[in-house]
Amino acid sequence: MLNIVIFGAPGSGKGTQSERIVEKYKINHISTGDVLRAEIKNGTELGKTAKGYIDQGQLIPDELMIDILASVFDSFKDSKGVIFDGFPRTIAQAEALKNMLVERGQDVSVMLDLEVPEDELMTRLIKRGKDSGRADDNEETIKKRLTVYHSQTAPLIDWYKGEKKYQHINGLGTMDGIFADICKAVDSI
Ligand code: AMP
Repeated sequence: MLNIVIFGAPGSGKGTQSERIVEKYKINHISTGDVLRAEIKNGTELGKTAKGYIDQGQLIPDELMIDILASVFDSFKDSKGVIFDGFPRTIAQAEALKNMLVERGQDVSVMLDLEVPEDELMTRLIKRGKDSGRADDNEETIKKRLTVYHSQTAPLIDWYKGEKKYQHINGLGTMDGIFADICKAVDSI
């Protein structure tokens, strides 16, 4: 199975590129942010808990996220692989993902790190907030999310380098150009 972790700061293009990867490689997509937004929309208990964290630009606790991830993963039948978008975001989540896959006789195939400079991330997220009305795409919350990214999520770069799964992708450029680089990386696994 092709198990891809798509990684990067908020606004780096993970969601957009994931859609293309799903289409080309016919794999399933787990976006933990999308799962949480759907729970909020449906007014579930999980959604209520998640909203408090998301509105503050903070991460949902690891134990909760790990349970959600495993249940979505196990809901896929006859899957050719999965793209993990927005997960893992902490070292504990990366370790849990690895264990979850090992228990199912699988592994992460590659971690794609979409790198985009900070000023560009800010511009993209503010624009997205205006276009989509996503509540956490406002300047104050974006700044908090970027701080959380640097302190809790960016250490995963070295973690995946240690696992020999790391692949850098330049996240600046046209969508097609970035996608071509991603395909090159995936096809060389
Ligand atoms: P995203 O759509 O991936 O940018 O996620 C939006 C928000 O959902 C994040 O700012 C977090 O509050 C929460 N979230 C999404 N994925 C995770 C995760 N793997 N761990 C913790 N919180 C998450």
